[in-house]
Amino acid sequence: MSETASRPTAPLRARAEIDLAALRANVRTLRARTPGAAFMAVVKADAYGHGALPCARAAIEAGAGWVGTATPEEALAVRADAGVPADVRVMCWLWTPGGPWREAIDADIDISVSGMWALRELTDAARTAARPARVQLKADTGLGRNGCQPDDWPELVAEALRAQAEGLLTVTGLWSHFACADEPGHPSIAAQLALFREMVAYAEQQGVRPEVRHIANSPAALTLPESHFDLVRPGIAMYGVSPSPELGTPADFGLRPVMTLSASLALVKHVPGGHGVSYGHHYVTPGETTLGLVPLGYGDGVPRHASGTAPVLVDGKWRTVAGRIAMDQFVVDLGGDEPEPGAEAVLFGPGDRGEPTAEDWAQAAGTIAYEIVTRIGSRVPRVYL
Ligand code: PLP
Repeated sequence: MSETASRPTAPLRARAEIDLAALRANVRTLRARTPGAAFMAVVKADAYGHGALPCARAAIEAGAGWVGTATPEEALAVRADAGVPADVRVMCWLWTPGGPWREAIDADIDISVSGMWALRELTDAARTAARPARVQLKADTGLGRNGCQPDDWPELVAEALRAQAEGLLTVTGLWSHFACADEPGHPSIAAQLALFREMVAYAEQQGVRPEVRHIANSPAALTLPESHFDLVRPGIAMYGVSPSPELGTPADFGLRPVMTLSASLALVKHVPGGHGVSYGHHYVTPGETTLGLVPLGYGDGVPRHASGTAPVLVDGKWRTVAGRIAMDQFVVDLGGDEPEPGAEAVLFGPGDRGEPTAEDWAQAAGTIAYEIVTRIGSRVPRVYL
């Protein structure tokens, strides 16, 4: 066995290129599909692996007036960013007892409330802050996850209105989240919309005057105009990834994938036929061939479940991951080709250079494309274009 060259030529082991021009174009496309609705750019989980702050700034440049996160820490980081104008609203929705309520109130963040314990902690913090909290009441209209159950809604609304009358909070939003918006025609979609309308109407009859009512994630923003209300909250579509293959490809919606994940081959070598490859020898070379070593592994978020199946573009050809994906590296069978070490191996990207897409990797790993992009780890440098 021999190495065909000794030094990689590319400066970076691996890189995730983030095409912010594509992200801006996706936001414009989504806004054009959701006329009359404000746009909340969802940048939780480091913008699905793309980098929260650069993506938030790019989305705002393209017209997003709101930024959404899961955790309060994520929201505080967005609010602290000098590139995010003060008139852009920031909202977050996943709190646990003892959360940073006071900091969130001081930073003018919209806080989602699903139950009484949160309202109590929040009003205590508002008293100390001597300013009202901005509160968005979340209804569980059928997702069965976060949100207030319909039976508990009257008590939550009444308590919120009492606190509002005391000057401790302002109810700025009424909102919910879909369970199956990515499954066209699923009966839960119509049921959730009907219940959302009912729960909103009840709160408004009691005197709530929300700035925004919202329920639409990416699939709803793309396919359900009746769900747009005052604001849409797309995440995955903004990153140019389809919410599900059933709904269509990104191109079907005029969206362009934002992330391209590639690496420089660390080694190219000749091996004889019958040679076991990687842990467990789950791949055995069918004949004499060349192997390329891709320096990315599950330690970088490349899914081990894609071992033996996922495609990689090397020198214009699709190759398949040969054997197990390890923590830091995996192997592709190059079929006798001898690209130089340092040659580019593209795992996924928009697809227009012939490379696989995140959807191809999702299929190979038995997961969703959301997980493929979001799990790319911090060891992989993001290169912003
Ligand atoms: N809103 C909430 C509350 C979410 O949790 C998410 C993501 O899961 C989104 C909006 C965006 O969803 P999607 O990425 O499907 O557009």
